[in-house]
Amino acid sequence: MGEKHDNLVLGIDLGGTKILTAVANTQGKMLSRDRSVTPAREGQQAVVKSILESVGRTLDQAHIDAADLAAIGVGAPGLSNPDTGILFTSPNLPGWKDVPLKEIIERKLGKKTFLINDANAAALGEFCFGAARSVHNFIYVGLGTGIGGGIVIDGKIYAGATGTAGEVGHMVIHDDGPLCNCGNKGCWEILASGAALAREAKRRIKEGAKTSILDYASGNMERIDAEVIQKASQDGDKLAGELISRIAYYLGVGLANLINIFNPEMIVVGGGLSNMGDILLEPAYEEAERRAFRQAYSAVRFACSELGRNSGVLGAAAYALERINDGGRRLS
Ligand SMILES: [Zn+2]
Repeated sequence: MGEKHDNLVLGIDLGGTKILTAVANTQGKMLSRDRSVTPAREGQQAVVKSILESVGRTLDQAHIDAADLAAIGVGAPGLSNPDTGILFTSPNLPGWKDVPLKEIIERKLGKKTFLINDANAAALGEFCFGAARSVHNFIYVGLGTGIGGGIVIDGKIYAGATGTAGEVGHMVIHDDGPLCNCGNKGCWEILASGAALAREAKRRIKEGAKTSILDYASGNMERIDAEVIQKASQDGDKLAGELISRIAYYLGVGLANLINIFNPEMIVVGGGLSNMGDILLEPAYEEAERRAFRQAYSAVRFACSELGRNSGVLGAAAYALERINDGGRRLS
């Protein structure tokens, strides 16, 4: 009530499968929210069109125009430069190369726009409005199809030399491991993500392993995902339990690396795979404890994302606020 329009920002969370848009105020309260499917395979123009349609709906819902916004923040997957607003490349958005996403949105909506990596946005969301409020040194780990990361040091997103820092999913865990989408071998996300879990299940089934996982997927190999494997495991399927343990093990190895390098106060775990909860996270934290320096491990608190699916869209909104308030000059 009586909300001043200059306090409102629009967040856009562009994912490989879905687009979330929301109008939020400076406290992270959402006035409206819209969710739609990303037509990733139809190419860049179709995706931009879908973003603008979603923005239109979410502005209508909030009864405002783009002109009423203070700024727009876009969280996008892949490598981007937050200063230039150019999205270099994204494994989740086939065909996108050096796209001036900031400029495109700015031109279409006539409003100052800022671009940030989606996992960095999620980290910022948790920092401003979620699990990491008042925590100044933490790492956000987004466990989904891949593994995204955001590193917050002294209350700022650590962006690195060209804005692409925080790609924790591509630290190498196994030098001769499976081939990752990035072209490297044995990255964390190819060993410890939701996609890794599904891939290993399919491989073992093809090899003839005795398991009921396929029954839980209605006999359809394509439907095997983390949720299906979790259900099978809860009903006592041995292979499903083994596969989850394996993922948890690799997850713990990566967490130990992060703990030893950054000595964070907190690690916030989010993303779809984290919904698996203790069955996955407890053994992962135990593995991390076995491997990390004791001093560093005992200092870290593990927390689950508080904002859940909204961490990215709220983080993008928070990023826009932050940038507009410092004149848009500085990175986060
Ligand atoms: Zn990789």
